Amino acid sequence: MSAFTFDLLVVGGGSGGVRAARMAAQRGARVALVEAGALGGTCVNVGCIPKKLYSYAAHYAESFEEAAGFGWHVERPRFDWGLLKTRRAAEITRLNGVYRQLLVGAGVTLITGWASLVDAHTVQVGYQRYSAQNILLATGGTPTVPTVPGAEHAVVSDAMFDLDPFPQRLLVVGGGYIACEFASIFNGLGSQVTQVYRGQQPLRGFDDDVRVFLAQEVRKAGVDLRLGTEVASILRTAAGLEVRLDNGDTLTVDQVLYAIGRVPNVHGLDLEAVGVARAADGAIQVDAHYQTSVPSIFALGDVTARVQLTPVALGEAMVLVDHLLGPKAGKPVRQMDYELIPTAVFTHPNIGTVGLTEADARKQFGRISIYRSEFKALKHTLSGSTERTLMKLVVDDATDRVVGLHMVGADAGEVVQGFAVAMKAGATKAVFDSTIGIHPTAAEEFVTMREPFIASSS
Ligand code: FAD
Ligand code: NDP
Repeated sequence: MSAFTFDLLVVGGGSGGVRAARMAAQRGARVALVEAGALGGTCVNVGCIPKKLYSYAAHYAESFEEAAGFGWHVERPRFDWGLLKTRRAAEITRLNGVYRQLLVGAGVTLITGWASLVDAHTVQVGYQRYSAQNILLATGGTPTVPTVPGAEHAVVSDAMFDLDPFPQRLLVVGGGYIACEFASIFNGLGSQVTQVYRGQQPLRGFDDDVRVFLAQEVRKAGVDLRLGTEVASILRTAAGLEVRLDNGDTLTVDQVLYAIGRVPNVHGLDLEAVGVARAADGAIQVDAHYQTSVPSIFALGDVTARVQLTPVALGEAMVLVDHLLGPKAGKPVRQMDYELIPTAVFTHPNIGTVGLTEADARKQFGRISIYRSEFKALKHTLSGSTERTLMKLVVDDATDRVVGLHMVGADAGEVVQGFAVAMKAGATKAVFDSTIGIHPTAAEEFVTMREPFIASSS
């Protein structure tokens, strides 16, 4: 019997922490989980889930408009922000309960409060100390707060779900996932949205064609996207928040959302006292097994600032549990593969992507071929919408493997998930070509692009 109260003590009940605690307990380990806030962490409470629910809400706006083209006469729809907030909150509370049940059902001891490290095997929560053979830090991230004059008048994404009143005029600052998603969502819900991004195209790191195309589509949908400029100051006036941009423009809005990245959440953990090393960006440093500089302390998910996505935190948690406790009976030890992680940006239209951008593939492989298709989806032949769809394949000439697949269009995330499996299996362009399409869908375009848009170039 170990001298410690627990085999594993997890700090943080978000995506990574809950998965690790539950799986370790299911393998018979004595597990505790400490959570300061609501179970489910960022994704469940102020991230993926409420964001996607609001994205669904926003999509209704275009559905109402498009319905007329199909013969439906819809009375002028009225949006009830208060009702949406109440229904979202109820669903999130239900999910918090589901998480609690899953953990308790697996035998995890739940501890409520803010944890700090005392030594390599001890964690303090309030006045209570708990000992564990291993400690896992899965404390996630927190939004970066701006430093411009008047920034105290702005909000970060956590506050967007419960804004009161609904922002009729919204300024979104940033060009990443959160800024682009919230700009689309609030535009759909009826806000007059301006998005300001310091770079030349939003979504740095995504394929350049995708970035240009997305910018065109969101502008068409009504977002006033202003590039190459930054907020200089924010002033509260009787008319609203007066925002001055460094290009000289001023605008008056009801709310300013700053979405300029997230930093690892290590607040109050007392890492230094115990000797847990951090990188220059504040992330907890870990090795291939998520072990920190203190051998009994592990870390994963957003607090390690690698790939900040829920499925990545879940994957890391499962790999860590296999590493600490051995794999499930009859199963091989899981490995985490950071290649070919598919991702979606829930803009309107959505982006779905897996693999390399054209520019990165060119750097990595030299000679590549590009297949590209841009079209009006069948639905929009009657809907009256001018929205267009972009699909793009990046193929390594030497092996014929599809190394990048990108889509901007309806349900791109749903479409790309399946293609990600094919690409993990090493599918070549010839395999794509030999796959029978499903007609009539947009996705069939990925298996019917015969002629290269750019043939064999470096
Ligand atoms: P978290 O889920 O952040 O959990 C950390 C938990 O630790 C929190 O509950 C916190 O309260 C707790 N905690 C912190 N410090 C302590 C302490 N000292 N003591 C006790 N408890 C502590 N990802 C996707 O894959 N798809 C999406 O669509 C998506 N949308 C997003 C939308 C938004 C607006 C945001 C902000 C993020 C989104 N993400 C999305 C990212 C995703 O939410 C994160 O990558 C994921 O939640 C990371 O999980 P985690 O376990 O590392 O941390
Ligand atoms: P991102 O890192 O994606 O984007 C940050 C944006 O802010 C970039 O456009 C960046 O510009 C800009 N920026 C950074 N600093 C400043 C500054 N000082 N002034 C003005 N602009 C600035 O962060 P997000 O906050 O959007 O999201 C955090 C992470 O959460 C994402 O990276 C993603 O991993 C995850 N997420 C995932 C979602 C999904 O899966 N659908 C949805 C939402 C979040 P530049 O590019 O020029 O540096």
